[in-house]
Amino acid sequence: MRVIGVLGGMSWESTQGYYRALNEGVKAALGGFHSAKIVIVSVDFAEIEALQQQGDWQTAGELLADAAQSVERAGADCLLIATNTMHKVAPAIEQAITIPLLHIADATAEQLIADGITRVGLLGTRFTMEQDFYIGRLEQQFGIEVVVPDQSERETIHRVIFDELCQGRVEDASRQRYLAIIDSLHAQGAQAVILGCTEIAMLVGQRDTTVPLYDTTALHAQRAVAWALA
Ligand code: GLU
Repeated sequence: MRVIGVLGGMSWESTQGYYRALNEGVKAALGGFHSAKIVIVSVDFAEIEALQQQGDWQTAGELLADAAQSVERAGADCLLIATNTMHKVAPAIEQAITIPLLHIADATAEQLIADGITRVGLLGTRFTMEQDFYIGRLEQQFGIEVVVPDQSERETIHRVIFDELCQGRVEDASRQRYLAIIDSLHAQGAQAVILGCTEIAMLVGQRDTTVPLYDTTALHAQRAVAWALA
């Protein structure tokens, strides 16, 4: 089994989900006492969040590239960046390491394509929903059309991620807001909706809606388990 490297802490609430999903994936495949071989380097999210606010992606990229090198030095065979948003600086991180980066958008897109989905809704931080690094990859590399919520819906989604989920708060009123937005994306022709932020599965899941949901944390972990066991 190969060692899975995780660049976590963004936020730590969602890194817990990765730890569980990686171990459950290996256990499901191998049974018994088997568990995943994992190296996690967890950053202080306050530093990253401040750099996001300032739009200083250069410094954020340097900080994460440094942490990724620690993951590699600790013996990881691959790297997962355990956040959708910070894939904005994936090129800088990738340049700093020699192990392969398993990209979260690729893991998600591969499953969408396998399921025949070509038009998909996207929920995430405003960086993920409004900038090109994520949507552009889905559209250009995989031919998947992306529908994003309108401006006020995007503000709600972003606010709930940072003010609630990243701080470990799960509110029923926010769940209802998210579900209404998911329904509206579906009504606009999205065949499915990507939970494109690694905390969203804390709030909504397939049990809450008939619209097919693609949880990026689960798909990213699943991809890593398949890679580690291949
Ligand atoms: N975990 C989140 C994501 O998947 C948001 C936190 C961050 O900005 O990294 O985008």
